[in-house]
Amino acid sequence: MGKDTYLILGYGRSGRESERHLLGKGKKVVVYDDSLNKKPNIDWHKVKLVVQSPGIAPYHPIGAAALNEGVPICTDINLLQKSNPLAKYIGITGTNGKSTTTALIGHILRLCGLKVEVGGNIGIPALALENLGEHGWYVLELSSYQLELSNDINLDVAVWLNITPDHLERHFTMESYINAKEQIFNSAKSACIVIDDTYSKAVEAKLAIQHLTIASEFKNYPADLWVDAGGILHINNQLFDLNELTTLKGIHNWQNVAAAFAATLQIIDDCQKIWQHIQTFPGLAHRQQLIAKTPNIEFINDSKATNANACEKALKTFFGKKIFWILGGKDKNDGIESLQPYFSHIKKAYLIGDAKDRFAKDLYGKVELEKSVTLDIAVKHAIEDAKSETNAVVLLSPACASFDQFRDFEHRGDEFIKFVKEQLHDSDHIFTA
Ligand code: ADP
Repeated sequence: MGKDTYLILGYGRSGRESERHLLGKGKKVVVYDDSLNKKPNIDWHKVKLVVQSPGIAPYHPIGAAALNEGVPICTDINLLQKSNPLAKYIGITGTNGKSTTTALIGHILRLCGLKVEVGGNIGIPALALENLGEHGWYVLELSSYQLELSNDINLDVAVWLNITPDHLERHFTMESYINAKEQIFNSAKSACIVIDDTYSKAVEAKLAIQHLTIASEFKNYPADLWVDAGGILHINNQLFDLNELTTLKGIHNWQNVAAAFAATLQIIDDCQKIWQHIQTFPGLAHRQQLIAKTPNIEFINDSKATNANACEKALKTFFGKKIFWILGGKDKNDGIESLQPYFSHIKKAYLIGDAKDRFAKDLYGKVELEKSVTLDIAVKHAIEDAKSETNAVVLLSPACASFDQFRDFEHRGDEFIKFVKEQLHDSDHIFTA
């Protein structure tokens, strides 16, 4: 009997979309998920392909058994490419800035009149996207989890933003985290790579495909596109003042803008047009998002800052203000010692979630702190403390994942907005979210 069954490993959003997609094509599908009560008996002689969700590690027993049985493993990204072979693909990876850059690239291409679908790790599973023909462009955010499980993604443009320690609970070492991310270049036709950090520079040095380099932290490395200390982006002899961008503030966003510029330049040969569309980008929620303002306090929702590096960008942006900092969540064991240069600007830290004790140790004696435990208490106390200050910022920038107390980072950010609104009900304030 032939192999005719598709095994879906992991039944979250992407798993469900994969099931819908395969059933729609008349395929036989079996689903396996650790959380399902009823586990199927898997007859490996019949399984043609395993479609593994990115959240499931490669060393999951079922994935390992598939490898042992010689059954290939792929992801929903591979299935998307198989069913839309004529469309064009841009993939974006990096430790931080993926969603912003992905959304920005999608925005530019759409306004240039192209048929565009944006998805992947940004929250819309690849197989929930519309089918595109040969003139369509898929812009896909690709995490290290997706890249390590996907075979040979054929990208027209691969975009690499940065790499700093993260997700080591899954990859164990930086080397294997980098190896996973480097899969983005397998079979890519061209690439754009930011070379601001040492790891990325080493990756670029080995890159054999045609590529553009980007230096965005004015370190004076030779690069095809570079941003100087004044925030001017240099492309050939054309200059663009990134200080003009109101929704993409901060050096970290300049990195995203330069990468999006380089990527879209591969498709639209008109810098002025690209620049014009970058200026109308509305920005993404939960990333240094100004949600409310009173005469003396700004409220910033940076719930998407799930690691110290992302958090550093927020502390840098608000450097010089009095920061009332809410942090903590699911402990990833990667600590916040690297944020020490910013501690002098923190008026008080409010610690929540699993990581509260660990972070308290890192901050002890350097920053005034309280263990608020939950977000509602943290918001309440931060507002009470900030009320008597001028030039204050109540900042949720947790440096942690959210899963200990929330469904995901969006839920955490939405709850933050809700608690701020409840606390500000009778004060003089403006809501922007
Ligand atoms: P990702 O999808 O990679 O998590 P996002 O665009 O959602 O990236 O941003 C996540 C967090 O990282 C936010 O807190 C944001 O302010 C910060 N950030 C955005 N771009 C960068 C960058 N290029 N480098 C470092 N941090 C960044």
